[in-house]
Amino acid sequence: MSGLSMMCGPGTSTASTAEDTYVFDPGSLTTAQVMGDACAVCHAKWPRPRRPLGELPDGTGVYGCAECAGFVMAHNARALEHALAAH
Ligand SMILES: [Zn+2]
Repeated sequence: MSGLSMMCGPGTSTASTAEDTYVFDPGSLTTAQVMGDACAVCHAKWPRPRRPLGELPDGTGVYGCAECAGFVMAHNARALEHALAAH
């Protein structure tokens, strides 16, 4: 019995590039939100969300309207979590 088992695991890379970047769960966002067409918090599509709120696990930016971004800036990413949970 001569078998060589190859261990080719992907390796758990826990490298986090950004310190305070909130990573959104893409499953909890609508397509419009993932595409940046709608605010990730309040779903507003107009005015078009231009303020970065965080990103998706793959690094894609997630955006929000000025009002929600201001809320996040005034507090922190945890406040954003509460805001998202409230919906
Ligand atoms: Zn908003």
